[in-house]
Amino acid sequence: MTDLAPLIRKHLQQAQRILITSHIRPDGDAIGSTLALGLALTEAGKEVQMVLEDGVPAAFRSLPGSHFIQTRPNGFFDCIIVVDCSDSQRVGKVLDGYRPPDVVIDHHLTSNHFGKINLIDPSAAATASLLAREMPRWGLKITLPVAENLLTGMVTDTLGFRTSSTTPEILRQAADLLELGADLSGIYLRNLVQRTFAAVRYWGQGLAKLQRSETIVWTTLTLADREIAEYNGNDDADLINLLSAIQEAEVAIVLVEQAPQKTKISWRGLKPAVNVAEIARSFGGGGHKSAAGAEMQGSLEDIQQKVLAATRLHLQQIHDSRVKRG
Ligand code: 5GP
Ligand code: MN
Repeated sequence: MTDLAPLIRKHLQQAQRILITSHIRPDGDAIGSTLALGLALTEAGKEVQMVLEDGVPAAFRSLPGSHFIQTRPNGFFDCIIVVDCSDSQRVGKVLDGYRPPDVVIDHHLTSNHFGKINLIDPSAAATASLLAREMPRWGLKITLPVAENLLTGMVTDTLGFRTSSTTPEILRQAADLLELGADLSGIYLRNLVQRTFAAVRYWGQGLAKLQRSETIVWTTLTLADREIAEYNGNDDADLINLLSAIQEAEVAIVLVEQAPQKTKISWRGLKPAVNVAEIARSFGGGGHKSAAGAEMQGSLEDIQQKVLAATRLHLQQIHDSRVKRG
């Protein structure tokens, strides 16, 4: 792979007005990466706008700099950067009326390289890890607020350094961030442990409908469930991680109704042979080998049937190829 650092460094040095954005329904890595890069570039004297179409969910509002995040860009930019996002659709409407991004920095297996310069490393456990590696090479300083944001991206994407994507590199990077003063136990507590009362009630709605067919476990969360639990988000409140604990399962799925004819699907592959990114991609979504998602139009019931059929087929293909190989 050619080393893009000199090129990106030059691009950043020459730019004065910089836009940084990431994906809709932003998670800890999307927000942490946006803020880390945005704060470091601001510190380097750039005029930076950090934009997320859906803003910052309440759980991440204590991140340093999160109040700078806007939901729409304003004016022109000489450098547009997208972080932690595999395709232009997932950016939402943020770049409507703007050119495609100048730089994309991402770690998704399914990235479609939609920038002019694409720094994509699927072996990185988090985009924040990629940034921790590259930012010093771009001449950017990792201050304490930057460190807090990078560590948040790392902790959330690796579920506290326990996913199979966790590498010696990310553990060393995390140790360096701790040395700078980043608060690992606070980040862990706020982002992986603590939940609101409403979120746990919402889990209850989903868990009450939990289903299993052989090695697939799944459930749905409807708009009505959200209302009953008084849960404000439009996500699954990480219910998928609870389902991922089920020993018998090879794949866990949560279907979250977004609107009467629109559903968000999350898959988790729980065995090394499973590649849920492939299943998600067949529905126009994407992600990583062990964690992927898609958004589909249609009734929740129809989507559920299609998703289960495609997941069964994927597992069947894996089992068949295993038998063939003996
Ligand atoms: P989650 O299930 O937590 O929403 O997402 C798991 C992974 O799949 C994340 O890396 C996320 O970025 C990716 N992902 C989720 N939904 C979509 C989608 O609709 N399209 C694409 N391309 N990736 C998605
Ligand atoms: Mn990520």
